[in-house]
Amino acid sequence: MKIKFIGATEDVTGSMTLLETPACKILIDCGLYQGIPSVVKKNLRPLPFNPKEINAIILTHAHLDHCGHIPRLVKLGFRGNIYSTKATLKLAHLIMNDSAHILEKNEHHLLQDFYEPEDVVIATSLFKAKKHHEPFSLLGMEITFLPAGHILGASSVHIKGEKSITFSGDLGRSDDPIIFPPEKCPMTDILVMESTYGGKNRNGDLEKELKDFLNKIRTNSKIGIIASFAVARSQMLITLIHDYYLSHPEEKIRLVIDGPMMTEANKIYREFKDYTKHPQNLEAALNEVEIIEHIREWQSIKKNEGPLIVITSSGMVAGGRIWRYLENWQDDTNACLFLPGYQAEGTAGRALKEGERTIHDEQGKIIKWSGEVISSEAFSSHADQNELVSWISEIDKKTQIYLNHGEVEAKIKFKELLISLGYQNVLIAEAE
Ligand SMILES: [Zn+2]
Repeated sequence: MKIKFIGATEDVTGSMTLLETPACKILIDCGLYQGIPSVVKKNLRPLPFNPKEINAIILTHAHLDHCGHIPRLVKLGFRGNIYSTKATLKLAHLIMNDSAHILEKNEHHLLQDFYEPEDVVIATSLFKAKKHHEPFSLLGMEITFLPAGHILGASSVHIKGEKSITFSGDLGRSDDPIIFPPEKCPMTDILVMESTYGGKNRNGDLEKELKDFLNKIRTNSKIGIIASFAVARSQMLITLIHDYYLSHPEEKIRLVIDGPMMTEANKIYREFKDYTKHPQNLEAALNEVEIIEHIREWQSIKKNEGPLIVITSSGMVAGGRIWRYLENWQDDTNACLFLPGYQAEGTAGRALKEGERTIHDEQGKIIKWSGEVISSEAFSSHADQNELVSWISEIDKKTQIYLNHGEVEAKIKFKELLISLGYQNVLIAEAE
C-alpha cells in the first residue's frame, strides 16, 4: 500500500491523495486549488497519474477544494466510480455544476476549458452513494465512511486492506449549531489528518456575535448585508436567526436571502434534515425565509432603508449576488457588511476585512464602501486545535500520522504539539 500526496500539501486547497495497491489506484478527494492566481495555476500542473488508470474516487465531502477537480478527470477519461454519502453526492453535483458554469461564462478565467457542464453530468452519473457506518468492499479493501461533522454529508474514511488507513477529511467543530460533531478517529495503522486549525483555537462566540449584529441592525434601522458561503454557512445562519427570532419575537426584523445556489443548497439541507441536530427548526427556518428571486423583488428591496438583513453570496465577496447589494448601498454610511467566514488572500472580502474600502470585482467594477464592516472568525466549520487533539484521543500513540491540509505554520505547530503529547510518528505530508 503506497500513499502519494498530490494536493493540500502546501496549503488548505486542492485536496487529493493517491492510494496505490498492487490491485488498484484510488484517489481520496479530488479538489481544486483555490485562491490567488498563483495558487489557481497549480490546477494546470500535469497530474502524476493517468486519469484513465484511476479505479475509483472516494470523496469525503462536497467543498470545491475536495471535489472540484473531478470533472477534469472525467474530461481526461476517468470513468471509475465515485463513492460518497448521498448528501455529499447532491451537494457535490451542485458545487461542481456551479464551478463549470463559472468557467464557461468567464473567458478570461485561468481555468477556461478546464471542464464543461457536460463533464459534470458524466461525473454525477459515476457516483455511488454509501451510508455512514456501513462498510463496503472495493477492490479487495473494506471502506467505511464515518461522520466528520463540518458540513452536511461530510465523512472521514476508514480503509481496511493489508493495513488500515484513515483519512480525516475536513473535521467539524464539536459545537456546530446544526451539524453533529465528528465521530472519534478509530484505531488505525496510518492516519492522514487535516490541520487547518492545528496552530490555534477558535476565537469568539458565534451566537453572541450574531446577536450583537442583529441588535445593531434593528436598533439603528440599518441595512445588514451578510456575505455567506452558499453551502453550509448560509443554512447555519438562516437557522440561527430563525431560532433567535422565535425566542425574541419582539426583535424580529425582515430577513431575506439572495443567491440561486444558496436556494438550491437549502433544498438539499431540507431533504437531509434528519442528519442535522434540529431537523424541525432547520425545516421551519428554510421554509419561512423570504427569497429574493425575481428582478421585481430586487427592484422593490433596493429602495429599502432598513432595518433589513440580507444573507447573500459569495462568502469572500469574490463574485455573485452580493455585488448588487454593495453597489446599491455603497454610499449609505448606515449600511453594515458582516463577513462571518474565512477571507482568502486576494479576495475583496480580505481587502475589506483589512480596512480597504475601495474594491473591485473580477470584471473590474469598482465599489467604494462607505458603511461599516464587521468580520468574525467564530463561525468556522472546522475543528480547532483542541478539537483536533480530542478527535485522535482514542488512537494508539504509535500510529503513523501524516498532517496535510494546513498552512505550513499550522502544521509545524500541530506536529510539535502532538509530539509533546506522546505521539511518536508524526510527519508533515509532502508531495513527491
Ligand atoms: Zn471542507
